[in-house]
Amino acid sequence: MLRAWRNELLCVGGLCLVLLLIAVFAGHTQALLGGGLIAYLGWHLYNFVLLQRWVIRGRRSRLPVSLGVWEGIFDGLQRRQLQERRRRRAAARSNSDIRATAMRLPDALAVLDQDNRVLWFNAAAEKLLALRRPRDLGQDITHLVPCPGLEDSLAGVGSWRPLEIASPANNGKMLSVQTTGSFGPSRQRMLVARDITPYHRLERARRDFVANVSHELRTPITVFRGYLDAIRDGDAAPGWARPVAAMDEQAQRMHDLIDDLLTLSRLELAGRSEPTDIVRVAEMLESIVEEARTLSGGNRHQLFLTADPDIRVRGRKEELRSAFSNLVFNAVRHTPPGTRIEVSWASEQDYVVLTVRDFGQGIAARHLPRLTERFYRVDSSRSRESGGTGLGLAIVKQVLERCDADLTIASEPGRGSTFGCRFPRSRVEVRPANRPFREYAFGA
Ligand code: ADP
Repeated sequence: MLRAWRNELLCVGGLCLVLLLIAVFAGHTQALLGGGLIAYLGWHLYNFVLLQRWVIRGRRSRLPVSLGVWEGIFDGLQRRQLQERRRRRAAARSNSDIRATAMRLPDALAVLDQDNRVLWFNAAAEKLLALRRPRDLGQDITHLVPCPGLEDSLAGVGSWRPLEIASPANNGKMLSVQTTGSFGPSRQRMLVARDITPYHRLERARRDFVANVSHELRTPITVFRGYLDAIRDGDAAPGWARPVAAMDEQAQRMHDLIDDLLTLSRLELAGRSEPTDIVRVAEMLESIVEEARTLSGGNRHQLFLTADPDIRVRGRKEELRSAFSNLVFNAVRHTPPGTRIEVSWASEQDYVVLTVRDFGQGIAARHLPRLTERFYRVDSSRSRESGGTGLGLAIVKQVLERCDADLTIASEPGRGSTFGCRFPRSRVEVRPANRPFREYAFGA
């Protein structure tokens, strides 16, 4: 670039020198220099016009050829034009490679615009979602795929969990449908549907098996307990009082276990719950914490409750009561006497959260991911002693899933544990409850 300018200056200098020499012999110095300057400016203007025409015609037109500094400028533009063409060709190639790969994916994939209209879909989407090309291109996906909750999912409200539907192309197939948030400058979204039929069948068989076995066991256990009650209340033979009490205790455990198993099966089979009740959580928590105080008995746990009475949740009252009481009772049953336990119900950014925090012995990090598994216990013998079935947190998780909520668990050994139930705003109703925001301390 510098060289081009140096040459340009040399040319201008040379031209001036020639004009001066002519002027020395022929006179008319000013006219000659003026004419030379005008010719020089005219040449630059001409090149400007060439450049402007090229810019207006678009980058695809041929670049003009020129001399001096303009040659350098046009050459530089030419180089850039070539580079950009190469880059675009490479991008188009990789774009079509990605499309070809996506086309062969076993999962159905549909790319949507910001108004949920279908821009593109792969072969599996034709097979699983019954989309047809070109008929469905440009159509609203929520009209093409009958899936309750899809509109909310695309709008980014409601649950983040995959939706499960029967395939519109084949009722015998079950699909798990997930959507992404909008991405890129044109705010596109993606819908992915996966065939989960084998997993679904297996899961259904497992649930049916557990539900049937639990149901079948319920009657014998009830009969068994009835006779034990009769023996205990009658004149049991001397020396039988303790064995009968032990049998009664074990029968009670089996009864609780079967009850919990049946609750879990019912929740699993029912799927997502329609919000039937508007639950006044603050009131519910007051009575749960009161019961927890009774459960603590002589252990005198220090219970604190802070609850916003204006925030209500749409869900099933009895299910929510069982989930919340499970967490509060766990804090009493799995912590040493006198432990401080704080229960709160409040808004937190995008969620409304029920938090049960205890300052007990805490849980080691390796156990945390498995706590909601059925029968998973940190300390089996202690849990059994405290009357636990090992199904409490699995029930909590199921209840929350049915309400589009989720369970968070944080714990630090020696410092205590925090269990949180996070409800999305779509499940919450805030209405003045005409009762003051109160804080309670129970047994403190
Ligand atoms: P359980 O009927 O045994 O209470 P859960 O599913 O409710 O079953 O809980 C699973 C395990 O998680 C419990 O056995 C216990 O070891 C642990 N746990 C639950 N809550 C707490 C808590 N607040 N502090 C310490 N451990 C807890």
